[in-house]
Amino acid sequence: MNGLHAPLGFSGSDQPSAEIFNRCIRCGLCLPTCPTYLETMTETSGPRGRISLVKAVAEGRLDLLADGFVAQMSECLDCRACETACPSGVAYGQLVETARTQIRRAQEPAESPGARRLRRLLLHTLFARLDLMRFAAAVLRLAQRTGLASLAGVLGLGDAAKLAPEIPARFFTAKGQRYDAFDAQGVAFLHVGCVMHVAFPQVHAATVRMLERARLSVVVPADQGCCGAIAVHAGDLDFGRALAKRNIEAFEKSGADVYVANAAGCGAALKEYTRYFAGDPEWGARAQRFSERVRDITEVLDAMELDPHIGRIDATVTYQEPCHLVHAQRVSGAPRRLLEKIPGLRLIEMSESAICCGSAGIYNLTEPEMAGRLRERKAANVRASGANIVATANPGCAMQVAAGLRATESQTEVKHVVELLDDAYRAYSAAVRRA
Ligand code: SF4
Ligand code: SF4
Repeated sequence: MNGLHAPLGFSGSDQPSAEIFNRCIRCGLCLPTCPTYLETMTETSGPRGRISLVKAVAEGRLDLLADGFVAQMSECLDCRACETACPSGVAYGQLVETARTQIRRAQEPAESPGARRLRRLLLHTLFARLDLMRFAAAVLRLAQRTGLASLAGVLGLGDAAKLAPEIPARFFTAKGQRYDAFDAQGVAFLHVGCVMHVAFPQVHAATVRMLERARLSVVVPADQGCCGAIAVHAGDLDFGRALAKRNIEAFEKSGADVYVANAAGCGAALKEYTRYFAGDPEWGARAQRFSERVRDITEVLDAMELDPHIGRIDATVTYQEPCHLVHAQRVSGAPRRLLEKIPGLRLIEMSESAICCGSAGIYNLTEPEMAGRLRERKAANVRASGANIVATANPGCAMQVAAGLRATESQTEVKHVVELLDDAYRAYSAAVRRA
């Protein structure tokens, strides 16, 4: 900005709403919950400062593409801890996501062909085509097993290679499977997602078995796809809408009663499809009907009567709250109640369980320095808790926490809540077989 031109403001559709940013009374109660504020102790790196920046752009006092504004919209994790803390009900996530959409649209004409290709490869190709996601995962597995990390680097997966868990030989692909529960009380649609189905297929297998134990049959329709969260967090709301339509149609065709997600980030996006289609006369109503049926797996299991024949897990477990479960979906008690049902398991609380671990979609790629600081902070809190297992409910958190613990040579395992429950039931079955 040289002062000769009027600042570039928000324009067109998907603008941050004045109704939202004007609700901020600048009380600062959100500041101690914001991971980037805790790390930097800088006003502009916190929610209150970022809201002021959004307001300044909306009022024409700051350029949309000013370096400081673009940097702050990128540094924010969209973890939404500030929403949980806010007494005025500022829907902060909507502000940052629409601000990013505005920035991306304004930057697009000047984007280099290389940057555009990388963005399209990451967002439009890998997340729209899950067969390509499986191909990329297979390449990563090859690199992990042969030490050819450079091969992953060629595909732009160098950082992913460092953070990724060991990629298994078999994925859990949506192929139209159906699993019939004994004395079924309903039908659950299982969302397989993009990362979970290649990196943690065992979590899907455990989810199916747990739903069956809760007397829900399970369908896994092949026409579902990525939830769109990563695209929306990256400011590509239009692409997020295209992905949302595919899942809404797949659920409508399936005839299932409930749409179940076991990845907190996916569940939060799926529950917010109504917002993606605000003002759309056709898709608005369909999205609302869809989102009303979405549940996290821990909500479903917590609400159902489970088989009382459960085995022991003798372990000390701490629970890492995924931001998009605790802050976006406001689900916090259900995972803990489920863990407490496991005989032998001692649940302890770590410090800062609800502070983001730095995973946040593709944040490791876009903000590697802050992602690394938050990963170390989380690993230190886990170690200080003394737990030998960390339970969580989101693949991004699982990868990030495990990478943080690996870096400190910790032996602490990371597991999804549903894996621990399934382990306990399988321990009971194994004991019965031995007896
Ligand atoms: S979404 Fe998270 S990182 Fe962003 S301002 Fe709110 S608390 Fe801070
Ligand atoms: S808690 Fe809410 S009202 Fe208070 S400063 Fe933060 S966003 Fe604004």
